[in-house]
Amino acid sequence: MRRWPLGAALAVVGLGYMTAFRPRSQIFGPFPFEGGAVDPVIALTFDDGPNEPYTSRLLTVLADRNVQATFFMVGRCAERYPATVRDVVQAGHVLGNHSYSHSFTRYAKQPRQEVEIIRSQEIFYSLTGITPALYRPPWLCHWPWVMSTLRQHGLQVVSGTFAHPLEIFQPAATKLTDSAARLTRPGTILIFHDGREARGGPRDQSVAAIGPLIERLTDRGYRFTTVDQLLGISAYRI
Ligand SMILES: [Zn+2]
Repeated sequence: MRRWPLGAALAVVGLGYMTAFRPRSQIFGPFPFEGGAVDPVIALTFDDGPNEPYTSRLLTVLADRNVQATFFMVGRCAERYPATVRDVVQAGHVLGNHSYSHSFTRYAKQPRQEVEIIRSQEIFYSLTGITPALYRPPWLCHWPWVMSTLRQHGLQVVSGTFAHPLEIFQPAATKLTDSAARLTRPGTILIFHDGREARGGPRDQSVAAIGPLIERLTDRGYRFTTVDQLLGISAYRI
């Protein structure tokens, strides 16, 4: 019995941790992870880019199949590949903000996480002339102070469904395709990665999974749209 207060404290900490990172946790405010679609329509999303040559390969895969997607980019990666940021927007895909450095410690408290958000907004605007209205927090970390900062800056937080729990570590493309297809329902927002945090690195399996996934879902009657369209909100701030 004497251990109960410590156990309770740990439980509270554990619960807080889980609720702040779980893709479907709504405890700190609306955290949309899917659209309300009844029709078979979904959104493909790609985090942690741009990262070459993988982002450009994805653009080719998507263009060949006339599919629009949403790219949640890291500001530091955008500085590394500015032409790719412009290519993504010019191809009609949606650009969302995914922090500046993707550094976990910068999310622990204010004001550093606010700098992460604002600095990337400035980079995206300077490169493309547009200011994203969509934000996906790194690790889907939606602490209350992150949520309030996003509201202050007119940004809509976006969650989703991980296409495969280990996709970041690049299991075989067939596994990624199978998992993503299995998880897809009308309104699903699928999360893939065309980079890894702010480090880049090989994404061959993720890129190779997308074409077969589009074809398989198309055969099941699915259409593809962008997150803003799926949620019925604006992609960019005016
Ligand atoms: Zn990320």
